[in-house]
Amino acid sequence: MNQRIDLRSDTVTHPLPEMREAMYRAEVGDDVFEEDPTVNRLQEIAAGRMGKEAGLFVPSGTMGNLIAALVHCQRGEEAIIGDLSHTFLFEVGGISALGGVFPHTLPNQPDGTLRLEDIRAAIRPENVHFPKTRLLILENTHNRCGGAPLSREYTRQAGELAHAHGLAFHIDGARIFNAAAAEGCSPAELAEPADTITFCLSKALCAPVGSVLCGSRETIARARRIRKQLGGGMRQAGILAAAGIVALELMPPRLVEDHRRAAELAGGLAAIPGIFLPKGMPRSNMVFPELSPEVPLSARQVETALSERGILIGRVSERGFRLVTHAWISDADVAAVISAFREVLARS
Ligand SMILES: *Cc1c(COP(=O)(O)O)cnc(C)c1O
Repeated sequence: MNQRIDLRSDTVTHPLPEMREAMYRAEVGDDVFEEDPTVNRLQEIAAGRMGKEAGLFVPSGTMGNLIAALVHCQRGEEAIIGDLSHTFLFEVGGISALGGVFPHTLPNQPDGTLRLEDIRAAIRPENVHFPKTRLLILENTHNRCGGAPLSREYTRQAGELAHAHGLAFHIDGARIFNAAAAEGCSPAELAEPADTITFCLSKALCAPVGSVLCGSRETIARARRIRKQLGGGMRQAGILAAAGIVALELMPPRLVEDHRRAAELAGGLAAIPGIFLPKGMPRSNMVFPELSPEVPLSARQVETALSERGILIGRVSERGFRLVTHAWISDADVAAVISAFREVLARS
């Protein structure tokens, strides 16, 4: 069925046969009553992987991040977030629309970080005119910054700064397992400084649906009420959680392969006249090639020409693309994509 080479995202992966088998066999119960043994087990395993006390299974990363903002902030309070962060760009303004949380954006650096001095300067002093600064959100790996992983050391410093000023610290770790693979450490080490972390089961880990929000027992108990309020109480969700458990057991060790293929893809594309790539990238499973000014084609034309060859890629600007490697992308696919790019540009 899957003849196409689909590099638009790692979300396009379907559940593995082992996942479907586990879903079929899953023991279930009413998760709103906290009686679904499979959901409970997924949450326990996920919390363990993140080094937190508790986890909460949610339908999406977007809901996980929204619940985190709502759990940490009251209406009118402020969250410091990157201007290229997923929460700022791609979550439909939910933290404002549904939580009344005021986003204070700071420029994301090319490596996905926010400058510590920018964060320090953004934290507002006590003043009757000011909203209370309540929350710092960082993203790891950073999607729009080339899939860059944030280091343990940087995350520790950011967490220390946030906590010294009484801020909560949330990590949007949609791809925290990719970050851990890139940094050669455990996700728990990367999550350690944060009060809460969201990660996605449905991306590189290949589960069909779901994310987990992890934090202290007390925070997750409050998060559970907010999930219900948002309509995210899911009843016999063990069917979905079962796939998540298999995802956590099988998938993290193989992510280094996706990263190797991303590096090979980047190397092959960089050798084509008319294509350039940001220096020092890729660091994980995302490749962001751009067309040089002399290329007469637009990114849209290149995207169309590739799709006619059965290759689907993401377009992020007039001249730029995003290609994401994942469990469905083989070495042969990487070679095919490089030669298709070469062919399309040679004809221009
Ligand atoms: C995909 C993604 C999310 C949201 O995940 P959904 O499950 O698609 O809602 C959040 N943050 C980052 C960085 C992402 O890449």
